[in-house]
Amino acid sequence: MTETFDVLDPVDGAVLGQVPDLTAEEALTALDVAVQRQHSWATTPPRERGEILRRAFELVSERSDEFAETISLEMGKPLAEARGEVAYGAEFLRWFSEEAVRIRGSWLTAPAGGSRLLTVKKPVGPCLFITPWNFPLAMGTRKIGPALAAGCTALVKPASATPLTMFKLAEVFAEAGLPEGVLQVVTTRSTGEVTSALLADPRLRKISFTGSTAVGKELVRGSADNLQRVSMELGGNAPFLVFADADIDAAVDGAMIAKMRNMGEACTAANRFLVHADVAEEFTAKLAARMGGLRVGRGQEDGVDVGPLIDAHAVESVQQLVADAVAGGARLVVGGEPDGNFFPPTVLADVAPEARVVREEIFGPVAPISTFRTEQEAVDAANNTEYGLSAYLWTRDLDRTLRLVESLDFGMVGVNTGLVSNPAAPFGGVKASGFGREGGFEGIEEYLDTTYVGISAP
Ligand code: NAD
Repeated sequence: MTETFDVLDPVDGAVLGQVPDLTAEEALTALDVAVQRQHSWATTPPRERGEILRRAFELVSERSDEFAETISLEMGKPLAEARGEVAYGAEFLRWFSEEAVRIRGSWLTAPAGGSRLLTVKKPVGPCLFITPWNFPLAMGTRKIGPALAAGCTALVKPASATPLTMFKLAEVFAEAGLPEGVLQVVTTRSTGEVTSALLADPRLRKISFTGSTAVGKELVRGSADNLQRVSMELGGNAPFLVFADADIDAAVDGAMIAKMRNMGEACTAANRFLVHADVAEEFTAKLAARMGGLRVGRGQEDGVDVGPLIDAHAVESVQQLVADAVAGGARLVVGGEPDGNFFPPTVLADVAPEARVVREEIFGPVAPISTFRTEQEAVDAANNTEYGLSAYLWTRDLDRTLRLVESLDFGMVGVNTGLVSNPAAPFGGVKASGFGREGGFEGIEEYLDTTYVGISAP
């Protein structure tokens, strides 16, 4: 009989449910099923695949409250934020329901004449998805939507802390008419072992991972023997640049979103605030007032803005980053002291460039502020990181905007906005933030191979 493991409430460790703790052997049986279903799913008419995705979008949207409750309970985020995640996550199903019918090849006359060069797009085949705990629904639908649209079968392994949402999504897909075995949820506590067994099987053709850079590197190595196709959505260290010509009130509004969405537990979270020295005092005071006014508490309570962090380990690591910054001369403007797994919104000013809090991914509600004088200084500081996921830029100068968009080494740049995530846009990073894009027109390409056909045409 399959063993199970408990899913825990991040506030007090209460047991919320149990999920199967699959062994490597059981996961390989799931892969057998995905392989068996691959051909029939790939040859299901695109419109039919699209309509199943569309129905899934509608069902998730209709059950927004139910999904939000599960997300909030297992992950801790406030209900309003969880509803936001449901809307965002569902949109990937709608977007790719529309993309399923637009997969197309091409036809070219060879430059020298005499033959025709055709390209045909085909699904890459059975996929493995590994997702993190911070967006239990959306990190799954960003992969499942394009994969199903392209005609791929998939196994999805959610984070052990937050697997309940994924089981709910699988129920929705069954109700939407997805044939059994096309999408299977694989939960396990022996993640490394199960993943290695799956990657060692050449019938698995693709792995798409969202999570930390360290694990991502291991998975890329693990995919080498069978040369599976790989998409990696990894960590970030987003700079948030505020120039003296910016609308400071708008920049503070944007900062609240870029920093506090998901309690700072987002790969796109503003991790370093780089503010022109002339406006730093005003920006810091306004941001601290807004941060200090947020209500911290259980995600399911009314009026709560900030829930608990995912576990005690996360609290400790955020606390260490704050302590290191303060020891290095930073000024604690607001927040700083955790209460159980609740970490208060925190603002640090005068943060030194060597402080760990600006070099590492914080993954918590802490805003470290440093200043700059020249545009070049700002760009150099922004690019001074191994990561390259998202950057935010606040200025009313169009020339400066164009210069910065071209010189910032990031996969996504938000200009006068604190939110870049959008299902219709290509989400993804460069450098240690990984490769591959999710969403937009690019998203489905990650799940398609190109076959080229040369035809003699005398
Ligand atoms: P994590 O890397 O610890 O875990 C992510 C997933 O990988 C989980 O399902 C986990 O069970 C699994 N995993 C852990 N060890 C594994 C191994 N050896 N082999 C295979 N799978 C393994 O990350 P996390 O703490 O869950 O999530 C936070 C990280 O995710 C942050 O670094 C964040 O920036 C990143 N993230 C990136 C994006 C993006 O789109 N770029 C989005 C969200 C989160």
